[in-house]
Amino acid sequence: MAVISSNLGYPRLGEHREWKHLLEHYWQHKLTDAEFHVAAKKLRLANLKKERDLGVDLIPVADNSDYDHVLDTLAAFGAVPTRFGHFDHALNLSEYYAIARGTKTAVAAEMTKWFNINYHYIVPEFDDINFKLLDNRWLRYYQEAKDALNIDGKPVILGPVSFLKLGKRHGAYLDDAAVAELLPQLLPLYQQVFQELAAAGAQWIQLDEPTLVKTTDSAELVPYRTALHRLHDAVPGLKIELQTYFDSLDLYDEIINFPVQAIGLDLIHDHGENLAHLRQSGFPTDKILAAGLIDGHNIWASDLTQKFQLVQELQQLVTSDRLWLQPANSLLHVPITTANETKADPVLLGGLAFADQKLQELAVLTQAANQGVAAVQGAFDRNQANLTALNASTHRNNAAVRAAEAALPTQTFERQAPFATRIKLQHDRLQLPLLPTTTIGSFPQSPTVRTKRAAWRKGKLADKDYQAFLKAETKRWIDLQTDLGLDVLVHGEFERTDMVEYFGQKLTGFYATQNGWVQSYGSRGVRPPVIFGDVAYTKPITVAESVYAQSLTDKPVKGMLTAPLTIINWSFVRDDISKAQVQNQIALALRQEVQNLEKAGIKIIQVDEPALREGLPLKQRHWQAYLDEAVYSFKITTTGVANDTQIHTHMCYSNFGDIIDTIKALDADVISIETSRSHGEIISAFEQTGYDQEIGLGVYDIHSPRVPTVAEIEANIQRALRVIDPRQFWINPDCGLKTRQEPETLAALKNMVAARNAIQAQLSTATH
Ligand code: GLN
Ligand code: ZN
Repeated sequence: MAVISSNLGYPRLGEHREWKHLLEHYWQHKLTDAEFHVAAKKLRLANLKKERDLGVDLIPVADNSDYDHVLDTLAAFGAVPTRFGHFDHALNLSEYYAIARGTKTAVAAEMTKWFNINYHYIVPEFDDINFKLLDNRWLRYYQEAKDALNIDGKPVILGPVSFLKLGKRHGAYLDDAAVAELLPQLLPLYQQVFQELAAAGAQWIQLDEPTLVKTTDSAELVPYRTALHRLHDAVPGLKIELQTYFDSLDLYDEIINFPVQAIGLDLIHDHGENLAHLRQSGFPTDKILAAGLIDGHNIWASDLTQKFQLVQELQQLVTSDRLWLQPANSLLHVPITTANETKADPVLLGGLAFADQKLQELAVLTQAANQGVAAVQGAFDRNQANLTALNASTHRNNAAVRAAEAALPTQTFERQAPFATRIKLQHDRLQLPLLPTTTIGSFPQSPTVRTKRAAWRKGKLADKDYQAFLKAETKRWIDLQTDLGLDVLVHGEFERTDMVEYFGQKLTGFYATQNGWVQSYGSRGVRPPVIFGDVAYTKPITVAESVYAQSLTDKPVKGMLTAPLTIINWSFVRDDISKAQVQNQIALALRQEVQNLEKAGIKIIQVDEPALREGLPLKQRHWQAYLDEAVYSFKITTTGVANDTQIHTHMCYSNFGDIIDTIKALDADVISIETSRSHGEIISAFEQTGYDQEIGLGVYDIHSPRVPTVAEIEANIQRALRVIDPRQFWINPDCGLKTRQEPETLAALKNMVAARNAIQAQLSTATH
């Protein structure tokens, strides 16, 4: 028996986003249900066929979805939130999409991040649920692949414990007691799925239990072990691949003895720990090691020579007939193929591997493992040549950037004076009222803004006309902000589709893909920039826009930049040097932009770090290093200015208590934080720790078109002022207003200013 290759999941969007268009056409009523099903089946089978052609031995089935795999799971097991109705039949498409997208009478189910990556799943709500197997979708898709393509696939199912832990009851994620209570109700249904699959001839099932990587205490393993025993005992004929990903297993020694026939380990995002466990504790001789050795979360070609050394070591550790080679996690999170990157520099292209190229790598490694390297020498040689060319290219060897980086340890990045001194100088210079009002940066990107940008990109609108349009829009909004009576204005960010992409376009070392789409949620794709070379500053990025806006008003206009960590977290980052190194290169470039804004007369500069919280590593022991790097790069960016230049930052998230020390350490003069959905929690964090710098807690939620009343906003402000000194407090919405419509935005900001005025008046009578 030989080493085989296995996949965990294939991207859904389609090479030319066919799947996305299919969903959207269906939602626009351009297709009947029957037409949708025909088209969806065609895409599913095309993907399976492609995987087979690329040489995958064990092909996943039922990894496809009409929206999201957690939604599929809850729909199959009858865990539909009751506001969408009670079901005793398999959901039809409109019933299924109602959960994801809401209806006139029922709000959509919540969506949240899938672990620490930029995919969003539908959060199950386990309130008043009677689990019932409404649809054995795993059997349907297993059978479909077998009938149409004669593929004996490996159905992929989200494991029962992860499924429960990813969901909520009474608004809170399930705790261990709730999991223990619901699991026995769910297990018979999983058993039925397993039984029916075994009866249909399935050999293997891939049971994903990604929450296992977060377990640290043996007691937490009880539900997993119970579930696996029950499933294995009920259906001994169906072999289980227990799949984990996104980090290592702290409880390795216990988990490898679970009653399953294969265990999937992530050997990429595990900080080296899974391999260390393997070396130290070995691996059971009655199980298959499914080794995740190709990065399913980044887009770089593997160094095949290096990977092969690892494969050989694993062949020694577990023997060839007990080894599968796999991606470390589902390929759902990478784009499909580099074949459509026709405009990329060939030197870069040779170093890229999207999903299809990753499957090819697996096939090559599998062949090498079974037949020796000679059988695939050509592929190994090409791979070495490509990587050498990319690493030796001018893109990755910018002497000036490397010199600046090398000089970092000899410098300190601190503001000239401490905050207490700076803020006095800033108050003298800015002359703002008590409780100053401002916004987070972006204003609505109207259909006109989007149409003009699209025309300009296609070359149908001359650059000077596009620039003139952007200026007119900024002028219009400076006037609107003035009329509203806001104190600190912004230029509106009309030139940016995306706050990361925009900076990528202006710095060296970035590549914007033509077709590098990955699913963010539902039919939505994003195209993260690729940071492939040394990042250097060659020209001002935002200075002209800020200077123009400032020329229109006497009130201060904030400069607006995206901070290094957020740029990193929302990009595909080169892996030949550390992330921290890339982050510092970006920081050194942005430091020059900050200084150029200051030189051009901009008195306030906001450096946004919205992705700080969401990028936190899964295991707490890795947090400090991550946060220290974030603080360091933020300070490189922001400390090169005079004391009376005011630095702002903005973050969007709610779990504030987690990182309050980091927020302080950034040493920004003013921070604005998204809070309106979790006000109480944040305010109590302040009570406990105190905070010296100035702060704006979002006083209304911008995620809904609803216009908040003056009274509501006043109440939010009053609540904050119970723990924060009014002299420290700013008044602003929760986040940028880019996705809102103009009328509701103006109405909401008008109420925000009115609420501020009312409280200002109360405060001044109180002190007289
Ligand atoms: N300045 C950005 C904006 O207003 C910040 C966006 C964000 O926090 N995600 O759009
Ligand atoms: Zn925000």
